[in-house]
Amino acid sequence: MQPTHHQPASRHVAVIGAGAGGLVAARELRREGHKVVVFERGDQVGGTWVYTPNVESDPIGLDPNRTRVHSSMYQSLRTNLPREAMGFRDYPFVAIEEDEERDPRRYPGHREVLLYLKDFAIEFGVSEIVRFETEVVFVGLVEGGKWKVKSKSKRGEVVEDEIFDAVVVCNGHHTEPCVAQIPGINTWKGKQIHSHNYRTPEPFRDQVVILIGSATSALDISRDIAGVAKEVHIASRSVADETIEKQPGYNNMWLHSMIKSVQEDGSVLFRNGSVVLADVILHCTGYKFHFPFLETNGIVTVDDNRVGPLYKHVFPPDLAPSLSFVGLPWKVAPFPMFEFQSKWIAGILSNRIALPSREEMMEDVKAFYSLLEASGTPKRYTHNIADYQFGYDDWLAAECGCPAFEEWRKQMYFVAIENLFARPETYKDEWEDHHLVVILIGGAASSAD
Ligand code: FAD
Repeated sequence: MQPTHHQPASRHVAVIGAGAGGLVAARELRREGHKVVVFERGDQVGGTWVYTPNVESDPIGLDPNRTRVHSSMYQSLRTNLPREAMGFRDYPFVAIEEDEERDPRRYPGHREVLLYLKDFAIEFGVSEIVRFETEVVFVGLVEGGKWKVKSKSKRGEVVEDEIFDAVVVCNGHHTEPCVAQIPGINTWKGKQIHSHNYRTPEPFRDQVVILIGSATSALDISRDIAGVAKEVHIASRSVADETIEKQPGYNNMWLHSMIKSVQEDGSVLFRNGSVVLADVILHCTGYKFHFPFLETNGIVTVDDNRVGPLYKHVFPPDLAPSLSFVGLPWKVAPFPMFEFQSKWIAGILSNRIALPSREEMMEDVKAFYSLLEASGTPKRYTHNIADYQFGYDDWLAAECGCPAFEEWRKQMYFVAIENLFARPETYKDEWEDHHLVVILIGGAASSAD
């Protein structure tokens, strides 16, 4: 939407987090003329992609006082999207064949993504504006619609208070574990761990493992573990109650319906009626949105994993445009979406793009929630935009006045998903979308056909 009065404004903006979301937010804000500080509690950029063998002190993540680790990366992880579809729009994620240190595969390992993000941060001068090892501990409104940001430096333990015109929250949402509720679990004697704390299969050698979940990381981890474990039993809530299927290609892995209950003696009863004496339950059950530093006097809440109310998953109508969120929607191609959201936020903060009125935004949010309710979508899926992610990206692009999501990238995304279902074991190394692989000409991407 174009504003009626275009008075370019340069704002003092705090970006929280230097993962992919924070990096591209900082770049877009600077491009638009804002003064930006990026707060990052880690010692490098990359967020989720900074692999560490360290895990948290509570493997299931329930103890609020546990030692924290940000990243959920496991050692064997390769991307689940081809690099061409995954990268930022104007900084393609190209294979760097001439450097032996780099991973040129289309579905590279996690280190390659980290190196790409580091290159991005250097290329656009973002690294220089990141305050590393500086954790934001409080963000709250002060007079005049500005925001107070308190931060704590790891080295000096100094808490600083600073005032910003706007805050862009990019703290990621793959750190705070969500665990399955299982009848009898409190007296079950086996071990429990959340995939947030899964790194390598070795600790599961010769064990009987129950793995709950069926998303991409559950698929990866089950295969990782099947190589060393005695048995792997996958419990999925997306299959029929009677399901019990030996997994093709494995003589020690089965797919079951969900767990019905567990017993003190270590046995696990599935809805399909089978009983397994297990050593470990591994919860690959996703994460919660978590903003422990954010104080909005109840204006923004997290209710059953719905962050709201938010206009288009970004702006709380009552606090727009000075508070915004990058990266909440999931089941998406994240990097390009972060880029669109960031352009939109930057353009709105400079008055180049206009937001609807508070009332109109609130009406839009209410209509969206009613639609979810009418379709029987649980609240916790509010930010699952799998069914309309490209429509969402294109809407943002139109607001920003920039080109829509590239057609070749959309096709590649769909082909990649189809390929994953067709060849779950080999989709990262075998594909048939050569015709979509982009050729890079002078830094710009164009379709190969
Ligand atoms: P993050 O990368 O989590 O970054 C958030 C940053 O905020 C961190 O650096 C953190 O230290 C910092 N931070 C948090 N709180 C504070 C605070 N209070 N103060 C200061 N700093 C703070 N996406 C793909 O496109 N392809 C894939 O193949 C893929 N695989 C994935 C596999 C796994 C196991 C996971 C967990 C995710 C995967 N994703 C994948 C999604 C991935 O999360 C996104 O691609 C993206 O990296 C998320 O970026 P982000 O900036 O939103 O969050």
